[in-house]
Amino acid sequence: MRKVAKVNRPRGLSSAAQHAELKPGQKSILIAGGAGFLGSRLCAIYLQKGFQVTCIDNLSTGRVKNIESFLEHPCFTFAAYDICDPLTLNGKFDYIYNMACPASPPKYQADPIQTLKTNLYGAFNLLDLARQSKARILQSSTSEVYGDPSISPQPESYWGNVNTVGPRSCYDEGKRAAETIFMEYAQVHHVDVRIARIFNAYGPDMDPNDGRVVSNFITQALEGRPITIYGDGSQTRSFCYRDDMVDGLMALMHVDTVDHAPVNVGNPTEFTMKEVAELVLSKIDTRSVITFEPLPRDDPRQRCPDITRARTLLGWLPKVALKDGLDNTISYFAAELAGAGSRVVAAQ
Ligand code: UDP
Repeated sequence: MRKVAKVNRPRGLSSAAQHAELKPGQKSILIAGGAGFLGSRLCAIYLQKGFQVTCIDNLSTGRVKNIESFLEHPCFTFAAYDICDPLTLNGKFDYIYNMACPASPPKYQADPIQTLKTNLYGAFNLLDLARQSKARILQSSTSEVYGDPSISPQPESYWGNVNTVGPRSCYDEGKRAAETIFMEYAQVHHVDVRIARIFNAYGPDMDPNDGRVVSNFITQALEGRPITIYGDGSQTRSFCYRDDMVDGLMALMHVDTVDHAPVNVGNPTEFTMKEVAELVLSKIDTRSVITFEPLPRDDPRQRCPDITRARTLLGWLPKVALKDGLDNTISYFAAELAGAGSRVVAAQ
């Protein structure tokens, strides 16, 4: 297996995941992309639950900072792997999460070929491992499979409206093809797959330089920089707080079902980007003003999940309203920026 190039591996991080001895009855879980803001939360929760946790990440957008506090944990192993490479991890896994792929448009568009490889080769490699390990495997898919939807809210039965050759296609089409690969492994090889379509997750542990709207608006307001609304700000998104999202993913992973079809996981309360900017400004004492910048090509006009299926199959509902989730997220970014030596103008 190729080691990931340019990984700054702190002391204690290995390049080969060698499982510690499992205690009798202890479950073993692999979290690919476990240094990301959702993946690292999954690592924390499964460690608390007594699982043997193996985290792999190529650290392209995931951050060692997110997993630093687990590195000395006897049940935690980190290995700097890229899921594009064949995985020869030692050990047998009961569960696998595929959380490995940049999710922010500027990040996934920075290296579109790598984004496609991560979604396609990564799906095959992790599914082969799941098959060999007889593990249940969850794919983090995305609302991007709906593209610029012509119906709203979007149920899972909607096939989407996606440009195959636009700037977002490497991610959208990569994730769509990955869903197909997962479903074929379920049908052909009887792998127990779960597919979660994630709608705009946000919260603590996001990278301040992530580039998505919530992190941009908050860091801009905290630093007294202009708030950059793309287009006229009338486009909508539905934001799901990290803890709700992780609860939904875990509910899908652990539900006893033979139904492998995709499930929307998101918060159906829809906001325009202008409303999000105003909400952020109402919570931070700042000199920032709103500015308008060109709308990126193929930016979807609206996005809102129909979560009937998640409610009925999983009994899951999001609990945290955007106004409340933003409070924790703002405190987190204020601490991050202060730690990085940034001049935080004024936090609430
Ligand atoms: N957006 C914005 N200003 C920013 C970043 C994003 O107005 O600084 C808009 C973007 O054009 C899109 C929405 O916010 O309409 C959500 O963008 P994000 O990158 O968070 O995620 P997406 O759902 O587009 O993948």
